[in-house]
Amino acid sequence: MKKVVKFGGSSLASAQQFMKVGEIIRSEEDRKYVIPSAPGKRFDGDTKVTDMLYDCYRDAEEGKKFTDKLKAIKARYDEIIAGLKLPLSLDSEFKSIEENFKKQVGENYAASRGEYLNGIIMADYLGFAFIDAAKVIFFKEDGSYDEERTKEVLSTELSKHDRAVVPGFYGSLPDGTVKTFSRGGSDITGSIVAQAVHADVYENWTDVSGFLIADPRIIKQPVGIDTITYKELRELSYMGATVLHEEAIFPVRKEGIPINIRNTNAPEDNGTWIVESTCQKSKYVITGIAGKKGFCAINIEKDMMNAEIGFGRKVLNVFEDNGISFEHVPSGIDTLTVFVHQDEFMDKEQQVVTGIHRLAKPDTIDIEADLALIAVVGRGMKSTRGTAGRIFSALAHAKVNVKMIDQGSSELNIIIGVTNDDFETAISAIYNMFVEPIV
Ligand code: ASP
Repeated sequence: MKKVVKFGGSSLASAQQFMKVGEIIRSEEDRKYVIPSAPGKRFDGDTKVTDMLYDCYRDAEEGKKFTDKLKAIKARYDEIIAGLKLPLSLDSEFKSIEENFKKQVGENYAASRGEYLNGIIMADYLGFAFIDAAKVIFFKEDGSYDEERTKEVLSTELSKHDRAVVPGFYGSLPDGTVKTFSRGGSDITGSIVAQAVHADVYENWTDVSGFLIADPRIIKQPVGIDTITYKELRELSYMGATVLHEEAIFPVRKEGIPINIRNTNAPEDNGTWIVESTCQKSKYVITGIAGKKGFCAINIEKDMMNAEIGFGRKVLNVFEDNGISFEHVPSGIDTLTVFVHQDEFMDKEQQVVTGIHRLAKPDTIDIEADLALIAVVGRGMKSTRGTAGRIFSALAHAKVNVKMIDQGSSELNIIIGVTNDDFETAISAIYNMFVEPIV
């Protein structure tokens, strides 16, 4: 067995956390390749090292004195090194970071030092090889991830090491400049490494015991999810369920490698398994509920719309021309509604209205703001009658008015539009209908 293990920032925020991580890695021979994040928050109100680096580099760019801020960052690492009693010094590393900040080599380089330095400490602590991600993970000229080149170089390099540490979050452009993924991108690095070494499992260690059926800020102590498919997760994370970076499933998905979300602070918990497919039924018909507020619906009416070929295309063209992506387009016989993100749409609303009038010549256009979308996701829905019925009766009992319904063609999800104000009530009602027996 070969496992790739990624540890998030809070799992590596202090020497004490490093020790927990060390114990986890040493407890299983199979945990061979380690992807560390930068040190995260040690306590509520603390600052992540990545944020400290962005802030420090901003000062460097503005020509301000930044050395004190850099010293504070070094102190975070020195505290970890001292706590682990390692005979390691990062003095020369910080010297070259200071020089590079003076030369203003870029914000991406600055941010990447968080995982780079944590990787050096981790490799030293474990006695594993250290591999600089800039030498094995590549981006193309246009900034997109270069899968071909990465796979080739990374697999070759890792085949030379039985055990290694590859810092998360960054790689390099064709000219060698450091480039990072988007925030939280160490999850992607872990997935890329798992793909490159043909791992059996990609373990992603964080500070929660996996995914929960619903947001704990809305539902008190929601039940955890044991197993979820890549597709279900995609639906839920798109709708706001965070834990894993949205893009992290793609590399492992190509190889069918399962991801296991685990909790560094509760390693005895099984966490959540993210798999391609499973015959394991989820405990409930639904696997999860997630949602987002802040949508707008543009309702378009035109008599005989149904007979007009190309009407939808013309309408969507206007959104495309204005650089606005749409979320859902439910339609009736003479009506078509386009759901968009309110913040993306607001500045351009009148241009869009004019554009639709010009191109599609509708009778009326009506805009409704402050809407929320809720996704009820579950592989079990396909084979269970009455799921939609139960959702809507739960909403009706909770006096929530449903503005929109959209069932994905895969029968994996049902999307419901409600007002922002009804959002929490709607999620609670659905959760209680499927998970908690009504008392
Ligand atoms: N350290 C980076 C961040 O804070 C990347 C990561 O943790 O995955 O976004």
